[in-house]
Amino acid sequence: AKQAGGNTYAQYSRDFTDYARDRVLLAADLRQALERNELVLHYQPQVDLISGEVVGLEALVRWEHPTQGMISPGRFIPMAEDTGLILPLGRWVLRQACVQARAWREAGLDFGTVAVNVSGVQVQRSDFVETVGAVLRETGVDPALLELEITESFVMDRRQGSEELLRQLKSLGVFLAVDDFGTGYSSLSYLKSLPFDALKIDQSFIRGISLNPHDAAIASAITTLGGHLNMEVLAEGVETREQQEALLALGCHRAQGYRFSHPVAAKDIPEILRRATL
Ligand code: C2E
Ligand code: CA
Ligand code: CA
Ligand code: CA
Repeated sequence: AKQAGGNTYAQYSRDFTDYARDRVLLAADLRQALERNELVLHYQPQVDLISGEVVGLEALVRWEHPTQGMISPGRFIPMAEDTGLILPLGRWVLRQACVQARAWREAGLDFGTVAVNVSGVQVQRSDFVETVGAVLRETGVDPALLELEITESFVMDRRQGSEELLRQLKSLGVFLAVDDFGTGYSSLSYLKSLPFDALKIDQSFIRGISLNPHDAAIASAITTLGGHLNMEVLAEGVETREQQEALLALGCHRAQGYRFSHPVAAKDIPEILRRATL
């Protein structure tokens, strides 16, 4: 932030140096973190607002840093993308989520699907489809239990190449969702040609949904659009009862957010599933 009375360049350059140093240190640490098992997945329930049932779990990575404590993905995913570390990290996340899904299924738990965030950097790799297929085979997970969340900005950036790629992913039997829908300079035409199964309404539209008619109008339009295209629509970042009610009123029946549950450690999921309704 700009400080009163000038000296902004010095401030900027100090902030930048701190930032750069932070990133270099973190990059070196992250490489080790992968080997030392310092990464963990937390899972956030996705809920059917009518039945109250859990219909899915989104896997969200965290880093239990030995000295800095829990580090959120916002601090290391962009750096992992810049350094290429996202490739081993992303593979680890995918594999770990599948191992967990398999264990929950064997315990007789019904969690719907496990959703994994995939970075555009991963998807672009020519061996991505092969990697997903190999992880599914190695872990013995029914592909129908796996959902991949791909951001709208990635899809929009390279629409040409993505059609064939997404079809190959679909042919593995996995479920495909557009993450952060509505924020990526949406061109609705891509929805017609790309084989997506679900749209996730970005939380920036949910925040004001019960107060701001424009946010409500956008959430409503996305819900209607998804419905007509036979896609599931899920609202992200639902925190309040008012937001939940506004969503129900406009016909959106799936949601995820602190209102229902924060992301939690895997060990806490069985209890949440047994509680049946959130
Ligand atoms: P995202 O995919 O949009 O995930 C939703 C984020 O919103 C998560 O933050 C989640 O904890 C947070 N959230 C959930 N409910 C609420 C709510 O009610 N209110 C608010 N304010 N926030 C809520 P998180 O876990 O810090 O993850 C941030 C981003 O990091 C994710 O955004 C995703 O883009 C990325 N990310 C997380 N895990 C992975 C991963 O394994 N691979 C990749 N490539 N990216 C990941
Ligand atoms: Ca799902
Ligand atoms: Ca996501
Ligand atoms: Ca989002």
